[in-house]
Amino acid sequence: SIYNTSSKTIAAISTPQAPGGIGIVRISGPDARKIAGKVFTSSRGKTLDDIKGYTALYGRVHDGDEDIDEAIALNFTAPASFTGEDVVELSCHGGLYILRRVLKAVFAAGAVPAGPGEFTRRAFLNGKIGLTEAESVMQLIGAQGEQAAKAALAGHDGALEKKIRQIRESLLQMAGHLSAWADYPEEDIPEVNEGSLHATLCSVKGELERLLSQFEAGRAIREGVVTVIAGRPNVGKSTLMNLLSGCERSIVTEYAGTTRDIVEDTVILGDIPLRLSDTAGIHLTEDPVERIGVERARERIREAQLILAVFDSSQELNDEDRELVSFVLRSPAIAVVNKSDLPIKIDIKYIKENFKQIVYISALSGEGLEQLKNAVAELLHTAGLNPADGILFTERQRDAARRAEDSVSEAIVAVESGMTLDAVTVSIEGAISALLELTGERATEAVVDSVFHNFCVGK
Ligand code: GDP
Ligand code: ZN
Repeated sequence: SIYNTSSKTIAAISTPQAPGGIGIVRISGPDARKIAGKVFTSSRGKTLDDIKGYTALYGRVHDGDEDIDEAIALNFTAPASFTGEDVVELSCHGGLYILRRVLKAVFAAGAVPAGPGEFTRRAFLNGKIGLTEAESVMQLIGAQGEQAAKAALAGHDGALEKKIRQIRESLLQMAGHLSAWADYPEEDIPEVNEGSLHATLCSVKGELERLLSQFEAGRAIREGVVTVIAGRPNVGKSTLMNLLSGCERSIVTEYAGTTRDIVEDTVILGDIPLRLSDTAGIHLTEDPVERIGVERARERIREAQLILAVFDSSQELNDEDRELVSFVLRSPAIAVVNKSDLPIKIDIKYIKENFKQIVYISALSGEGLEQLKNAVAELLHTAGLNPADGILFTERQRDAARRAEDSVSEAIVAVESGMTLDAVTVSIEGAISALLELTGERATEAVVDSVFHNFCVGK
């Protein structure tokens, strides 16, 4: 079966992937406590092995030496857990950015990405829940999933599967030829040409590398990109938002500081759905009410996958502009130098020193919108993306593609170092098996799998 990996310890974000509240990274499997212990340090120096099931520790999650967040680690010992395995749940502060970092650290500590519904599937296999119960959970989740599925890629559903089959086909041919030649030396099977073997393996590796490198870009197109329009009052944020939305949505006024609250809107820029929000400034003030807005704006900027940092080119830079520059320094930000229709006064050198990408625009006239589109596509690496060539959709698929790529690389090394063709065959077979897992075709428990296949990751 495709998800029958219960010797492995799996992990996923198991709360809805939206900002706010508490977020949970769930780890399940024989090494759950050991893995959690590598990323979590309790403030009292206890370890998860020191405490009983259903009890918790307070402390910090970290990636190596780097602190990520404060967290609560909740310990469940097998079989008294949702999955029936050892489980640790790390409850963090919930921002998507934080949760993804925690998950990354957990993977680095030895967990593998959970497949869709894999927690529930393990619960089922361990007799914790029945199949129909699982199905009803699935229907609940599926209802939400469908909305999310109306993505820009809807028309290209079968592209990945087609691409993977095609890659697998060339591997199968190689493996077939190799074993026929090895098993029936007395027959008239043409000798394996190592040059063409090497070439085919390299081209397969190239295809897998392309798929892997486009994973994040594919996700951007599919799920949309959390985007914040930031800038001090009156630089033209609302006007830009309206330009991108194609209609008047936020309130635009001549007076500084009008946009009090956060306005949200999803717009499609090129191929990419941007989940836009226009924020109040990030400048800390004494006013407690404004402070809340400012904290929220800062939080949004930290969590954003794309920041459009807007500046007014007709004004000199002030402290608030510079505060924004330093605040977004290490973030995926584009400098949007607005009001390009007016005489320029801004210190553009300072902007150039601090942003990799700068776009001159007049949000009022729309001049420069095309350049903004290109800059966004470049930043998110979606420029070279062709959905018809296939895109990896899930972390599980990516994980399988990675394993296939590893095996192909092994095969290449084996050919290059003149190892026996047997060794090459073993590696090629490893790659084929990973690709079969990727498409789900190696499902022996077909019915069970078809149920769990439709779950979301983290459930
Ligand atoms: P916000 O406070 O950053 O949201 O700024 P607004 O979008 O409310 O714009 C502030 C003022 O600048 C308004 O009077 C806009 O009409 C004006 N404005 C915005 N973009 C441009 C532009 O590209 N050119 C010119 N000349 N004026 C602009
Ligand atoms: Zn505004």
